[in-house]
Amino acid sequence: MNTDAIVIGGGIAGLATAHRLLQSEMAVTILERGHCGREASWAGAGILSPLLPWNYAEPVTRLTQLSNKLYPGFIETLRQQTGIDPEYQASGMLVLPDSSTLPPEHDEARYQRNSAEAWCARHALALQRVRSHEIAPALACNEEALWLPETSQVRNPRLLQALIASITCSGSATIIENTEVTDWKVERGRVRSIRTSGGDEYSAACYIVTAGAWSRQLLREYGSKLEIRPVRGQILLFKLPPGMLSPIVLREREDFYLIPRRDGHILAGSTVEEAGFNREATSEARGGLLAKAHTLLAALAEDTLASHWAGLRPGSPGNIPVIDRHPDIGNLYLNSGHYRYGVTMAPGSALILGNMILGQPQPLDVTPYRWPA
Ligand SMILES: Cc1cc2nc3c(=O)[nH]c(=O)nc-3n(C[C@H](O)[C@H](O)[C@H](O)COP(=O)(O)OP(=O)(O)OC[C@H]3O[C@@H](n4cnc5c(N)ncnc54)[C@H](O)[C@@H]3O)c2cc1C
Repeated sequence: MNTDAIVIGGGIAGLATAHRLLQSEMAVTILERGHCGREASWAGAGILSPLLPWNYAEPVTRLTQLSNKLYPGFIETLRQQTGIDPEYQASGMLVLPDSSTLPPEHDEARYQRNSAEAWCARHALALQRVRSHEIAPALACNEEALWLPETSQVRNPRLLQALIASITCSGSATIIENTEVTDWKVERGRVRSIRTSGGDEYSAACYIVTAGAWSRQLLREYGSKLEIRPVRGQILLFKLPPGMLSPIVLREREDFYLIPRRDGHILAGSTVEEAGFNREATSEARGGLLAKAHTLLAALAEDTLASHWAGLRPGSPGNIPVIDRHPDIGNLYLNSGHYRYGVTMAPGSALILGNMILGQPQPLDVTPYRWPA
């Protein structure tokens, strides 16, 4: 097999990285344990912003802003290449606030606590104070809220479909599914080959790990300094008539959100659970999310509930991913640890990793995304 790069893991991080390398005429092979785009990237909600952006450190903001700038072109390219519409739209986000608390999973030492107004002004992000019914009249509550009109969303399963279709029709890519990478052959500071559970061996000039929550496990001793871990998230999907709700609604105090899709589907999520690699959807989470959804919008009830699922986010300290070359192994790269915002950060992270491999200048300071030595 003749390939320049092997990408291990076909979620949004792997597919966006492969897409970027293909645009630079590299030949790419993606090895995926199951089916591409069926783990966290499929399970996610598709909001293209941190939930409370002012509470995150600058490296999260910079990567988000870079990706937000790239998103319209990224989507347009995919639409032209494949005809698939990932329903990218600036639906805005209404934040029903309680600025005295941070979401429960936040490690306060690593996060910032900022005034939303001052932060938005500094980062040129539009923000208005409104009554919630001005923006979302169907909500049960009418209270003081923050309105972020520029916040966008994408229908992540469609984005993944478009990426897979674009990569497949590029002519320079091979996607190999149902193939788990299990072993590394490393000699004199370089990966020489990798082996799969089926006993096949693959080699290339460079190897890129994009295995999400499983990245550290896959890298074994080569990833022992990484702090990437699985963090389970559960979400409900309701089906209502279109037009019931148009913005994303975030209940800050409960770290709970509703995301309306164009066709009337509404997602309600999500949990943040340390459950190891267990990605079962539980009845406790279902009950809790259903109650919160119903409190916010009465039409979200048992009879409109269409589905419930769970996914494993690649958790990382401060939500800061690693996008870098291995400190000692010259042809081994990682693009993982995007935690709650892997869909948001996908185009920026892929651009940075691609530039690194191709020796091109970076659009921002990449030192915060270093592989810990
Ligand atoms: C409920 C929920 C809501 C979310 N909401 C949002 C949101 O609104 N906005 C946002 O930006 N992000 C959101 N996220 C986070 C986002 O989904 C993740 O950050 C992102 O999907 C991570 O992408 P990934 O490609 O790194 O991982 P994954 O999508 O998990 O992909 C990793 C892939 O690697 C494969 N793999 C693993 N090990 C191996 C191996 N040994 N060999 C071969 N292949 C392997 C897996 O099978 C998998 O397909 C949410 C996540 C969840 C769970």
